[in-house]
Amino acid sequence: MKIDLRSDTLTKPTNGMLEAMLSARVGDDVYKEDPSMNTLERRLAELFGMDEALFFPTGSMANQTALKLHTNPGEQVICDKYAHIYNYEGGGASFNSGISCKLIDGHRGMFTANQAEISINPPDFYHSPLTSLIAVENTTNKGGGACWDFEELKQIKEVANRHNLGFHLDGARLWNALIAKNENPKQYGELFDTISVCLSKGLGCPIGSVLLGNKDLMKGAMRVRKILGGGMRQVGYLAAAGLYALDNHLERLAEDHKKAKAIGEVLKKMASVKKVEPVETNIIIFELKDHIDETEFLNKLSEKHIHIIGMGSRKLRMVTHLDYTDDMHMKLLLALQEL
Ligand SMILES: *Cc1c(COP(=O)(O)O)cnc(C)c1O
Repeated sequence: MKIDLRSDTLTKPTNGMLEAMLSARVGDDVYKEDPSMNTLERRLAELFGMDEALFFPTGSMANQTALKLHTNPGEQVICDKYAHIYNYEGGGASFNSGISCKLIDGHRGMFTANQAEISINPPDFYHSPLTSLIAVENTTNKGGGACWDFEELKQIKEVANRHNLGFHLDGARLWNALIAKNENPKQYGELFDTISVCLSKGLGCPIGSVLLGNKDLMKGAMRVRKILGGGMRQVGYLAAAGLYALDNHLERLAEDHKKAKAIGEVLKKMASVKKVEPVETNIIIFELKDHIDETEFLNKLSEKHIHIIGMGSRKLRMVTHLDYTDDMHMKLLLALQEL
């Protein structure tokens, strides 16, 4: 039995999801004639209480489109040094939008309203890039699935309002935060100008992300998506997977979180482990003691058919997900204890 905890993107569609996909009604979504996609987009827009939702093949493309909608070339986005838009989207911020990132030295991918405010360049000081956007990530990926304090987000929104900046949420794993903190999507819809969510992570869809936003901003979203090559045709098959996932795979994220916490507890007791970051959702990041060889550690695990991933700086990551079963969980905990 292979236990693959490298990412929550590794899940395969369940039989129920495949059946829903097979029976989807479809049309050409570039003409907005795909009934299943129209249903998914409307459902998500309503869920978040936002005007519009638009489907994308990837979370990166959804985020990149948001950056483009909020900025002009030469401008600057404020984000944490761990941000996915800065670290893991291939340099898209500069490639697609011609913008730079002002990085905040935050904590686990999160920062304070004050840190955001002092990162804003004075708009009349033409030597510096013009700040036009603040972007946050919830949960934080590189920050180990940490969830923001909603009160802090409200304060950051006030900063954005005061300085006339856009406010974007990279919510690839927002579902996990909503479940872990018992929050409501509408809270987020009220606060942010744009939100991207992934269907292909915790929710277990094969493909898909959605960008949500108000009418004015989203006016240009279809065009940007087309330019980036993300206008697709009979995507109703993917929309059906998304609709199925919202019905069946959202509440169960609590199970992933419970398992992740249990793994964290076992790791803490291991002689080779120096530090385990607090486990809040489905991501576990831990550090090996200085004398432990990382490659050797990973090899020992893969000999036991357990696969996890290195994050650099001697940090290792495990992510629990839909395809990580109770049986695998028992085996993993045992294997770690025996290591
Ligand atoms: C996975 C992820 C994305 C999007 O990734 P894609 O692989 O392009 O779908 C964006 N932001 C965060 C925080 C992520 O974890």
